[in-house]
Amino acid sequence: MTPHINEIYLSVSGEGITAGVPTIFIRIAGCSLRCGATSDGRRLWCDTPYGLSPKAGTQLTIKEMQTTILELNPPAGAQVLITGGEPLEGSNRTLTQNLSNLYPKICLNPRHPFPRIETNGAEPLDNLKFMNFTMDYKLPGSGMEQHMHLDNFRILAQRNNPLDELKFVVRDKTDYNRTLELYKEYQFSLWTLYSPVADELDPKELAEWLKSSPIPGARLSLQIHKVLWGNQKGV
Ligand code: SF4
Repeated sequence: MTPHINEIYLSVSGEGITAGVPTIFIRIAGCSLRCGATSDGRRLWCDTPYGLSPKAGTQLTIKEMQTTILELNPPAGAQVLITGGEPLEGSNRTLTQNLSNLYPKICLNPRHPFPRIETNGAEPLDNLKFMNFTMDYKLPGSGMEQHMHLDNFRILAQRNNPLDELKFVVRDKTDYNRTLELYKEYQFSLWTLYSPVADELDPKELAEWLKSSPIPGARLSLQIHKVLWGNQKGV
């Protein structure tokens, strides 16, 4: 199926190592995970539930997407961020690669030479070019850990790209402890973002845990866009 594009808009990056950077968001529709919705009845926490269906939004050609990106670009050029849904799932993967192949024409800010791909950890990150990754790893509290592609830890280490980052959304102390186990096993050296599940884990509690973290790249990551605009779409 030809992928659908849910939305394209200019805003500022809400989290991670590029938090606050002017960013053009391209949201590709469709994701087969359901983060937070565990078998014991806890709630879905996905903040883009409108993007989960692969039919959300409209079909656009690469040329149309390029034109929109160039129209939105600010004078200094923006970071281009491809997100979802899941931009590497099924036929979305080819679209994401085709769009990233255009990098010199759409990534006009030299500090952000390639599109940033926000990916959910379930899709393999090998055989992809001209991308920086923000890879989520879904912890036990998400109910989705069984879908994680563990070889991505090796692939990210091999890439050795300082613009790649790893992200953990933490629901509780069990989740936090799991990140320490993962570090013991994979010794990742990336920036490692920790975000609390909204309305479930107090960010201050997570900050306290991080004060004694053995992970060199560990950092707290709160969502700037929610502070600025609340839980709205397209901002
Ligand atoms: S992977 Fe992302 S888009 Fe998919 S359900 Fe989880 S949070 Fe939502």
